[in-house]
Amino acid sequence: MSNPYSQHSAGTPPESPHALQLRRGFPRLRFEAPLEEEFRRAHRAETLPQVRRNLWLGIGFLLVFAVLTHFVLAPSTSIRLDLIRAATFAPVVVAMVVVVYSRWYDRFYPLVAMIGALVFGAGAVAIAVLAAREGVSLISAIVLVTIYIYFMLGMTFYPALTAALAVFLTYALGAHVADLPANTVVIDLVVLAFTNVVGAIVSYSLERANRTNFLEERLLIETASRDGLTGIHNRRFFDEHLEKVWSQATRERVPLALLLVDIDHFKAYNDCYGHQAGDECLRKVAWCLSRAARRPLDVTARYGGEEFAIVLYDARRSHAEEVALRIRSGIEALAIAHAASPEREKRLTVSIGVACIEPVVGRSAHGFVQLADEALYAAKERGRNRVVIMDKEYEQLSTGSFRGSADTPDLHTVV
Ligand code: GH3
Ligand code: MG
Ligand code: MG
Repeated sequence: MSNPYSQHSAGTPPESPHALQLRRGFPRLRFEAPLEEEFRRAHRAETLPQVRRNLWLGIGFLLVFAVLTHFVLAPSTSIRLDLIRAATFAPVVVAMVVVVYSRWYDRFYPLVAMIGALVFGAGAVAIAVLAAREGVSLISAIVLVTIYIYFMLGMTFYPALTAALAVFLTYALGAHVADLPANTVVIDLVVLAFTNVVGAIVSYSLERANRTNFLEERLLIETASRDGLTGIHNRRFFDEHLEKVWSQATRERVPLALLLVDIDHFKAYNDCYGHQAGDECLRKVAWCLSRAARRPLDVTARYGGEEFAIVLYDARRSHAEEVALRIRSGIEALAIAHAASPEREKRLTVSIGVACIEPVVGRSAHGFVQLADEALYAAKERGRNRVVIMDKEYEQLSTGSFRGSADTPDLHTVV
């Protein structure tokens, strides 16, 4: 899974894929690849209750209609109709009920809905053509099926349009083959054509509105989880994410790594270059960090002020060390001048505290953050612009009481 937010250039906050899609528009009712699948899945989940209800409504309609035609039409025709129904509607109805009440729904419903629409349509056409030969007009049933296809089956615009037009053409063909009187057929086809025009216009507008709502809702959720200045995740999102991955890692017994990254002498940078230059610098650092951790469950966030946090899922000490070193060299490569730095190198640098642990039941993510904080503190104490990794110290940690010192022999410093 690629992170669409990572596709942005240095120093600019990344634009959300949902915002981008809203700006570009979607006249053909199609989003860019990953969003399209996300929308369809959400659409299927949202329409499931209606789809279930409408299916029972459709079944009720079929039964009433079957009884009516059975008694209205001549016995020879009725028996043929009953056979058509038993052979076409019954298996499709059973398949649809099974799919909408099982875990196959998400995967197979679009296909089953399409087959259902075509079979109901073709069956209704066959019945209408046979009835028309006895002088009974059932065009209203085909109109009803067309409306059902557009609005009741939970189909998106294009499949619904395809199925409804197929029904229209089947009726035209059936009427021609059965040699029905031309005057009634023309009127029927005009009525059916208008039903399709209305159905298509309303269905298109509904889907457009649905898609716009989808993008706006997602955008709102994203905005609430992003930091306004840098565009990366904010502290609130990070805290929630950390709790989630902590539980998941405890269950799956995989190691986690937490990196706390703090810009060195940033107050002096602001004092020297001004707050706006400081902001620009924070954006560049955030961009650099978000490029360093890009696996699906890795999250980079602005933890507060000039401090950033990165959680790496299923990361052993060696991987965490590699990421931390990549960040350090990435920041160096940005080559941001820092004339006010008291260090010899007049460049912007960062200190990184890394905690590596395997979560166990009974311990909390708070201790994990505290350990990374201790490691960061040690990195600052040891002269900044360095990485300190802690893992074994976790055993001595009881929240609030542990304070590692630069002299603790277990501390692992990677300069
Ligand atoms: P150390 O090396 O010990 O980390 O020193 P420091 O100066 O980086 O640390 P300190 O905590 O004293 O200062 C942090 C500074 O970060 C102070 C504040 O002005 C700056 N800062 C925090 N948030 C922002 C922001 O959003 N924009 C800008 N431009 N500066 C910020
Ligand atoms: Mg700092
Ligand atoms: Mg700080």
